[in-house]
Amino acid sequence: MIYLGVCGWPVAHSRSPQMHNAALAALGLDDWRYVRLPLPPDLFAETVRALPAAGFRGVNVTIPHKEAALALADRASDAARAIGAANTLTFVEGAIVADNTDAPGLLDSLPEPPAGRTVLILGAGGAGRAAAWAMKAAGADVAVWNRDGDRALALAADLGVRAVARPERAEIVINCTSVGLSDPAGTFKALPLQADELGAGSLVVDMVYRAGGTHLLEAARTRGAGVVDGLEILVNQGAASLERWTGLEAPREAMRVAATTIA
Ligand code: NAP
Repeated sequence: MIYLGVCGWPVAHSRSPQMHNAALAALGLDDWRYVRLPLPPDLFAETVRALPAAGFRGVNVTIPHKEAALALADRASDAARAIGAANTLTFVEGAIVADNTDAPGLLDSLPEPPAGRTVLILGAGGAGRAAAWAMKAAGADVAVWNRDGDRALALAADLGVRAVARPERAEIVINCTSVGLSDPAGTFKALPLQADELGAGSLVVDMVYRAGGTHLLEAARTRGAGVVDGLEILVNQGAASLERWTGLEAPREAMRVAATTIA
């Protein structure tokens, strides 16, 4: 048996196991399994180093381990190093290789390449850093707002984008805060967004995903904006990880169906 998995703390809510096991079945990889690995921070590094000997080919990494995952890797992609966090580890001939597929996952989810577009990123945590790096690398003009302004300034200095104290108009707005996850109706109270920033002609992307969709995307859709759901980003980042582990093209439609099915 060859194992894959997702390491997090907590990780019970993750849709990755159902999505990846559906993909493995669609690829006919009957002797592969993707499992949930709940790991508290003090066990993370030691456990991950032991995984290759236990039959693991690679793992996804989620909150709160993404920085620790980069730190323990023997090699890292340019994206993971620049973002400062890894969501994918691949075990290759005794080495741990770190990558960040949140960045290509976001770009793959957009209806068209963002080159030359103005982009406002809300949030300067791990997802905000991945989004800022991806959009800048794709040629967009990127501004970042964060509740804690110092964190936005640090991100801007690291990644060569602009930090803004107040959100400014942009063609593409990407919510990379965790607002909307547990209190969907609280989106507009917590985020400094104006209704006309979500209107026709703009594209609103929500990294957050939840059953029934988020209030932010519902409001944007109502006002005529284009929307990208966080579930689509989940599918595309997962597909990019799976392709690194298996060397095969990921069956994105099977993954999409599994990710949107409430288990
Ligand atoms: P993180 O590193 O913990 O960062 C959290 C961010 O949310 C920070 O910018 C934080 O601002 C902000 N925030 C939290 N509560 C807030 C509030 N009440 N008002 C304003 N800002 C608030 O988390 P992350 O890894 O970046 O993840 C962020 C979200 O993206 C999570 O919901 C995660 O599930 C989602 N995500 C989705 C995908 C996907 O595949 N769709 C991939 C990655 C992440 P401060 O710095 O001011 O605290």
